[in-house]
Amino acid sequence: MSDVLRVQWTILAQTAPQPWLSCSRCGEAKPFRSSDKIRVNANGKRVDAWLIYKCTGCGSTWNRPILERRPVRTLEADLLRSLHASESTLTRRLAFDIEGLRQCAGRVEEFDDVLVTKTVLSESTMPAQRLEILCAVPEPVGLRVDRLLANELQLPRSRIQRLVQAGDLAAFPRASQLRRPVRDGMRLVFNLQGSGPAGALLRAVKSSPDAACRYRETP
Ligand SMILES: [Zn+2]
Repeated sequence: MSDVLRVQWTILAQTAPQPWLSCSRCGEAKPFRSSDKIRVNANGKRVDAWLIYKCTGCGSTWNRPILERRPVRTLEADLLRSLHASESTLTRRLAFDIEGLRQCAGRVEEFDDVLVTKTVLSESTMPAQRLEILCAVPEPVGLRVDRLLANELQLPRSRIQRLVQAGDLAAFPRASQLRRPVRDGMRLVFNLQGSGPAGALLRAVKSSPDAACRYRETP
């Protein structure tokens, strides 16, 4: 007999990180957004490729280097085709590659609007005493764990803090912090004994929202 309810939350970022760059037409630093278009320049045996960003103020473009003077023979044919076609899986992966973006842009703004899809992995066969949430986060998101939980479970953040202090909520791996962004593979474990009526929480943990949830910092 199991008294554990296990669910997976798949957390998909909705807005790609945006570099803040000095825009000559706007005359100040502005956030730039990926246009999901790739420019390729195949010059003889070498290939250059850029992901094109546009200023959110005036539409001026910035070319983010993806490949620089790369010998054609070292590139897989599939990748070259995807680059030429600005294939959407590739442009999304590049746009969300925040580390790569940071290497060519100083300040990068992260967003925390996400779409959370909930899947039950195993139901408890008796009233659940323990709740485990496995977080699947394919691309890095800026959303903090405590805000994710507060929003998805409809609990005040102060209640989340109290659960942690009482030892009724723990995040794994052990060093994980609830004030830090949620990461792939993170496991959140609730002890439901003594945490009051758990019915609403058990429903919220399983039900999927209809649309992307927009998380905004609340004081
Ligand atoms: Zn501009």
